[in-house]
Amino acid sequence: MYAHRNGPLIAAVLQSILSATSARAEAQPVDVLIEAERFDRRVSTSKTFARPTPELDADTLALLAKPLTPVRPAWLDEASGYRLPAWYDACRVQAHTRLSPSFMNKEIFYKAAAGFREMGARVFVRHIKSGSEPAWWPSKVGAVLPAARDRNIAKEIIDNAHAQGCRIIVYHRHMEDRYMAEVHPDWVCRDWRGKALSSSRGDYMCFNSPYPDYFQTRAIELVDMGADGFYFDERHMPKTGCWCASCKKAFKQATGLDHPERADPSDPVWHRLIDFNNLTIERTFLKWRRAIHQRNPSVVMLIGSNTWPTIADRHMTNRLFRIADSMKTEFSLPARNPGGVVFPLDASMKPVEKDAKLALGYTLARDSADGRPAHIWTHGLRDETSSLFAVAGMITHGCIANLDVPENTIPNPAFKKAFALGEKVSPYFAGTTPIRWAMIHYPELARDQYATDPKEAWRRVLYPTYGAYLALLRARLPAGIVTDSQLEEGRLQGAKVLVLPAPDMLTEPMRKVVSDFKSSGGLVVENDPAWQWHDANGGQERAVDAFGRRIEPEAKLAPVRVSGGPERMHAVSFVNPSSNRLTVALTNDFSWVQTGRARSKSGKPETPAAAPPPCAGVRVWLCGRAVPRKVQEVVSGRSLTAKPLAGGIEIAVPDFDYLAVVVLE
Ligand SMILES: [Zn+2]
Repeated sequence: MYAHRNGPLIAAVLQSILSATSARAEAQPVDVLIEAERFDRRVSTSKTFARPTPELDADTLALLAKPLTPVRPAWLDEASGYRLPAWYDACRVQAHTRLSPSFMNKEIFYKAAAGFREMGARVFVRHIKSGSEPAWWPSKVGAVLPAARDRNIAKEIIDNAHAQGCRIIVYHRHMEDRYMAEVHPDWVCRDWRGKALSSSRGDYMCFNSPYPDYFQTRAIELVDMGADGFYFDERHMPKTGCWCASCKKAFKQATGLDHPERADPSDPVWHRLIDFNNLTIERTFLKWRRAIHQRNPSVVMLIGSNTWPTIADRHMTNRLFRIADSMKTEFSLPARNPGGVVFPLDASMKPVEKDAKLALGYTLARDSADGRPAHIWTHGLRDETSSLFAVAGMITHGCIANLDVPENTIPNPAFKKAFALGEKVSPYFAGTTPIRWAMIHYPELARDQYATDPKEAWRRVLYPTYGAYLALLRARLPAGIVTDSQLEEGRLQGAKVLVLPAPDMLTEPMRKVVSDFKSSGGLVVENDPAWQWHDANGGQERAVDAFGRRIEPEAKLAPVRVSGGPERMHAVSFVNPSSNRLTVALTNDFSWVQTGRARSKSGKPETPAAAPPPCAGVRVWLCGRAVPRKVQEVVSGRSLTAKPLAGGIEIAVPDFDYLAVVVLE
């Protein structure tokens, strides 16, 4: 009974390991067998399975064992070395508004750009198509809004932005199109019963149908009208996968498999369909990226990541964000425990700390895109203080704060200070690279080997990843993330410590990179199974201590260390391309900031949250550095003194409310 139940799971695992072998490397059958045996032992000693897996026949198991895609496919080459244009990268506080067609009769619809400029915003996002409605311009293809047949509303919006000296990122809803769904019902995503799959804004158009070609024509029209960027929000394809004729055919061709009977997280065939769904999303964005960048390389593509930064879902993979010019996420999203994800955190485990989970999410969002700033939508900010703390948190973690301004309030004076803060500090982040003295591997592939057992996924992979990040965050050591495709590529530049949360589940190319890293003097910290990161009864604290002892000798030589201030103060450092300027960003706790609708679940008015006291007694220690020419804290504009001590310099940071940015030149 036991073995019979686990058979498909082990096969799925074997398949994962096989697919984990890069196309660039020769197949390593011996190692694959060793890996499978190791995993087999783990499975046989595991007590419970959250999801009983269905029985699968030998043919299906054999097909599941074939890889769908390399971990690091060759098409990632074209995104390596991509640099964001300065107008985007050097503007760390941007604005957002929705202004849907219902506002077209209102004055603000054509005056928003002036309102944003008055607030001090230089870059903003606004709708250019809100949902499934026709185009707001006389497009050559598809349906056009009656009001836009003789008037190019989209171009007026773009021109208005440019006339105010602003850049505009257009929110073009790319998933729904009512007219095309009517004309081509076969382009619509279907569930297993043949029913159309819909979002709240209409039916999903399938990326395996000819729809992406149609959409591309429209996107190029917008590029030609002068759009500076695209904001691709949300899920791209339904999270369940799609059962339309195009998908069934392409899935069969790619995998040899028939579609699963339904969406079922206990079914390895469904997980294979999710792999295929993820690859479909990647291929579509790669195609659009090529077309858009070819037309105008300075147009920035923001790609929505939905639940990806929560680390609890299988929708989208690290590969997509390598080709995203910038990842789009949301302020509180990484700390949410949304329903319907593949890996919910088990109630018996220690809950995550909100500020740390947010910081991990922002770091994943930034580092999965090779360190480029992620774009973080922040809506429903209550007041000026909240917006300043929120901005401090996002900027410190190397991201762009995208502040949603309610349509009827533009120009809203409550945001002026936040935009002014962005203007002041952005030059010290533009073009920089985050210092990642320690890199933590985010092992998606290893996690997915427990796709039918979320509790084990957390215990063996996700909690060790989060736990290591938490320990480094609290120690104020410079840390970042390396994803599966990046690890295979050996993108460990600047790292002295490599943390492997799932050291037994690496692919052959990853093992080679790890071995080279070790040979060149790097410290590899393999997760110790004795570290009970998930344990709510003191195990986590003991794991943090043990981890700290493991890295202590190296940590003494870390280039930047910060002491003092409250526990939830975060420190992140950045270096400019010519390595002659160091930026140390320090944020007070920002996890208290309330966003979204100002109403509790019970319907009662919410209790307003209070800002924490200022950060006091903060010191920055820079190992192996001589006194620099100039040290300043750029938020207050004060010059600071660097005190030479044995082995480096120390800088005392004046007390600050929400953000301090110490710059050494
Ligand atoms: Zn489909």
